[in-house]
This record gives sequence, structure tokens and C-alpha cells, in this order.
Amino acid sequence: MRIGVIGTGYVGLVTGACLAELGHEVCCIDSDRAKIDRLLAGDCPIYEPDLPALIARNRMADRLSFSSHTADGVSSSDVVFIAVGTPADSDGEADLSFVHAAARDIAAHLRGFTVVATKSTVPVGTGDEVEAILAAHASDVETAVVSNPEFLREGCAVGDFLKPDRIVIGAETSRANAVMEAVYRPLTARGCPVLFSDRRTSELIKYASNAFLAVKISYINEIADLCEDIGADAAFVAEGMGMDARIGGRFLQPGPGYGGSCFPKDTQALLATARKADATLSVIAAAETANRRRKRHLGARVAAATGDLTDKVVTVLGLAFKAGTDDMREAAALDLIPDLQARGATVCASDPEAIVAARPKLPGVAFFRDAYAAAQGADVLVLLTEWPAYASLDLERLHRIMRGHRLIDFRNLFDPEAVARAGFDYISLGRPASR
Ligand code: NAD
Repeated sequence: MRIGVIGTGYVGLVTGACLAELGHEVCCIDSDRAKIDRLLAGDCPIYEPDLPALIARNRMADRLSFSSHTADGVSSSDVVFIAVGTPADSDGEADLSFVHAAARDIAAHLRGFTVVATKSTVPVGTGDEVEAILAAHASDVETAVVSNPEFLREGCAVGDFLKPDRIVIGAETSRANAVMEAVYRPLTARGCPVLFSDRRTSELIKYASNAFLAVKISYINEIADLCEDIGADAAFVAEGMGMDARIGGRFLQPGPGYGGSCFPKDTQALLATARKADATLSVIAAAETANRRRKRHLGARVAAATGDLTDKVVTVLGLAFKAGTDDMREAAALDLIPDLQARGATVCASDPEAIVAARPKLPGVAFFRDAYAAAQGADVLVLLTEWPAYASLDLERLHRIMRGHRLIDFRNLFDPEAVARAGFDYISLGRPASR
């Protein structure tokens, strides 16, 4: 099939490359010319494991192309995916201006019957709006608007796309269902489950899923705080809970609070949807409030563990919102680091992939690619992103090169006994501090 993908960010680029890998002929479009120029030059604009090789292979096979002209991805395509951003606006609602603009661009270049499938996470009813835009600007061309939300996770996006837990297709006609079924046949033939629903239901499945995961994270974070207050160990509490198949062990690790480009904005957008519908989503509202409070208090946690931070050097290991990505959107580092600076600390930071994205967002920080260089002479070490490489840092060496010996682990990445053996004062989440 011939497929166009509008928006070549984390979702669009992975979608385009993976659909090409499945044998389709894909053209990825982005209005950001610099991004397209980098892709045409053979450079991958985001850090995502396995993606550069996938792009290279499919370009070589002539199945994947890039363009900044929407016509190249629309005029001869059977399906056009919309994968542009839907950031939160100032009221927490999803800003749909990119989706609407993409729909207008698509309408201008439609030729024959085309399925327009929204991969962007969009509020219920957005498919109706896209349909209205297409009808207004391309009334002479037959189209079908479909909701096809994406569930991939940054850091393992290629694997998630090619081996998804489920594919959700929300369409209003059997003709559109048949086209979408053909797009994903290489995956469904391998046994990947697919759920067909109406369009509005499909749009809500995405928000309800993300909000549920946000609730799970806020839940275990509050349980971890309680563990610290009453002397229980959150790791075992989570393990014991997760052994119950009804609960499941994933998403039960305490942390600094969720971030990234999805959970914060999607919970807010769902709450906005509920407000407009005069409905109550008190559980999601509570999870959202708890997360906001948690991230705001990260600096206070460091100060409580270390005392006055004036003129102290604090080294932060990990800046991206989670391991496996260079994405800084809503990263906990953006809450913690300015707070540490406001408390008088000098902040050094390291991250294997996110320094380029972090630098403009974090003025006054000294960045080091090498973790040891960042920790040299520091009074306090704060582990913020769970990059696996940090788990194998030489703790004795860190102890030798640092001025102070306090280690605050917001991901429970280190083994408390190993940290204690190396001579650190160790503070982690949901278990008593060791001395
Ligand atoms: P992103 O910001 O990385 O990429 C969006 C891209 O769209 C940008 O490159 C931008 O230049 C381009 N764009 C905007 N308007 C355009 C237009 N009219 N024509 C062509 N290109 C245009 O965003 P993302 O992280 O890929 O997210 C895209 C959508 O997918 C969002 O709705 C998001 O909620 C959803 N989503 C994201 C993830 C994730 O992990 N990032 C996972 C699932 C779903």
C-alpha cells in the first residue's frame, strides 16, 4: 500500500519506518524543513534505539522517503496518518491546531478515495472535526476518517510498534476498516490482536489507558512515601502487590513522578474533556495533583536529606524524562534543577543522550557526558533517570572523587548494600535511609 505520514516526530518517524518495514511504500512529511533535511542526509533527528538502522534499511529498499511537501505524502496514498503534536494549551486542553492544520494540508492534496487515520492522541470528537475540515476543503473527494491511537513507548518504540499488545481501529465504515486491516495485516497475521470500535470509543481508549497508567504510578509513589513514614519497604510491597495477576507488577516502581510528552498532557486533556461534559474523574484528578506535588517537592527532598544547599555542588545523573530517550518534555529534571539552583546549589549534570535537548531548558547547569566528570568534587549525587549504565557505575570511584558522600536515588536503581559498602549516605524511595 502507499502510505503518507504527516508529522515526523517520535511517533510519526517510528510509524513511517515500521510501516515501510512491513512492506508498504511510505512517505514521511514534516513542516520542519531542518528535520527533513537531516533525515535526507541520513541522520536520525531523535534518539530511539533500532530506529536509524530501520530507516537506513527501508530507504535503501526504496520503501521510505521524506519530504516537506504534503502533496508527496497525500496525492497518491491509500492511507494518510496524522502524527503531529497535540500539546496541552494553557487550560490543560489538547491544542488541536497542528491536527487541524494537517487536515487542511491533506485536504488540499487529496486525489481519490483516501483513509485519513489519526495517530496523534486527540480528544473524543476530533475525528468529527477532521472529517468536517476534509469535507469543507475537499468536498469532491471521498475520504474516511479513522482513529488509530498509538501506544508505543519511547526507548523501545520500534519493538512496541512491530509487536504491539493491541492495535485499536476506530472507524465508521466497513470500507475504512478493510483498508486499515490491510495496513496492519503483516502484524495481525503474526497474531497481534486488533480491536475494532467506533471512532469516539477508540479516541477514548488511548486517554483512558494513559490515565490509568498515571494513576498506577501516583499510587505506588504515595505508597512509597507511606513506607518511609512507617518503616516498610516499598520494593517488597510492590513485588507482593504485583504477584497478584489482577494488579500486575509493571508500573509499580516508585520514582520522581511521571513526565514525558504523554502522561502529563493526556491526564490534563482527559480532565478537560470531563469538565466540559460535566463529568467527574476524581481518581485521575487526584493522581494528577499528586504527581504535580511530587515533582515540585523534589528539591525539598534533596534539601531535607542534605541540609542547606547554599554553595553546595549537586550532580544530577540523568536528565531525560526516562531512560532510553533524549526526550526532555515534562522531565523531572526541569522541576528539580531550577529548585536546587534557587536554593543556592551549583548544579552539574550528565545524561548519555539528552544533553542537547536539555541545555536550552536548563541555564546555569554545567553539562558532562561522562558521569564521573560530572561527579568530580560534588557534595551530593542525585540519580534522576534510570539509565541502566548508571547501575554499573563504580561506586568506590565516585566516593573517591566526590567532596561529600550523599547519594539520593530517585529511581531505586542502586543496591543499598553496595552503596553503603562504598561509604555513601544513601537515600532512596520507600525505604529507610541508610547511614
Ligand atoms: P513530536 O513533537 O515529536 O512530533 C510532531 C511532529 O509534527 C513535529 O516534527 C512537527 O514539526 C510536525 N508537524 C506539526 N504540524 C505539522 C504539519 N501541519 N505538517 C507536517 N508536520 C507537522 O510529537 P510526538 O511525540 O511524535 O507525538 C505526536 C502525537 O502522538 C501526539 O499526539 C502524542 O500525544 C502522540 N503519542 C506520542 C507518544 C510518544 O511516546 N511520544 C506515544 C503515543 C502517542
